[in-house]
Amino acid sequence: MSSDIAQHLAEIAAEMASRSDRGQVAGYIPELAAADPGQFGISVLLADGSQHSVGDSAVPFSIQSISKVFGLAIALGRLGDQLWTRVRREPSGLAFNSILQLESEGGIPRNPFINAGAIVTTDAALGRRPPREYLAELLTFIRTAAGDEDIHIAKSVARSETLTGHRNFALAHFLASQGNLTNPPDHVLGAYFHQCAIAMTVEQLARSGRFLAGLQHLIAPERVRRINALMLTCGHYDGSGEFAFRVGLPGKSGVGGGILAIAPGRASIAVWSPGLNAQGNSQLGTEALEMLARRTGWSIFG
Ligand code: GLN
Repeated sequence: MSSDIAQHLAEIAAEMASRSDRGQVAGYIPELAAADPGQFGISVLLADGSQHSVGDSAVPFSIQSISKVFGLAIALGRLGDQLWTRVRREPSGLAFNSILQLESEGGIPRNPFINAGAIVTTDAALGRRPPREYLAELLTFIRTAAGDEDIHIAKSVARSETLTGHRNFALAHFLASQGNLTNPPDHVLGAYFHQCAIAMTVEQLARSGRFLAGLQHLIAPERVRRINALMLTCGHYDGSGEFAFRVGLPGKSGVGGGILAIAPGRASIAVWSPGLNAQGNSQLGTEALEMLARRTGWSIFG
């Protein structure tokens, strides 16, 4: 299996290198707008503990919304099922930063992976603590998951997004007006922007997903199942159905161009290429995962 994977990855990377349509780099966060769309890296951590990586697999990138998975694990650890009174578990069918449903649905976001839902989840994970304490817990969680202390927040990215994150401020203030934030919006967003600005390589990210693949025990198996269910149904926003159709694995994307995908019991996979498709998900990352899932037969749908 190990040698097959190495072969698949080499072929996938060669195929991706030949692509001229690589999507558009996220332009709305100035620090991310400068990313080189020519970059591509993929890493696969297998159940036997071996790890296989190709391309720009040791280059740190901004994990952005992939951080919502770890934030959700922490919020569920603190609040348990109470969290679900404040955020739902349905796909939104809208863009990650859409404000449209929030008013008609009474300030209860559709799911924890769209921005509105992640802002609520971050508020829940914060509790009564200062943002610094929550971020320290989050970093410890991710470092433990990855088995790597060398994972940090890129402060310049957090600053860049704080200056330009008007939609997220709008969402947070609307949530506050509906009584669905317990902390001041700027505290919650301070924590949220910093968690999005965590930088990791695909090698680190693939290792950090071991607990979701059932290859490391960090949280209760029942929570793992539920987080995977939400990744499958909501992890790619209004591209979630397409991702399930093409790849068939729970996955979470970020506008930095990363995707964490989970083959339960078999592998944790991280891929990165900064060019995004129309739904804000890595274009080549999605294609690479589709190729990998087809070759390995890892789709959860058989
Ligand atoms: N920090 C980004 C934002 O809030 C995260 C979005 C994403 O990765 N999809 O806009």
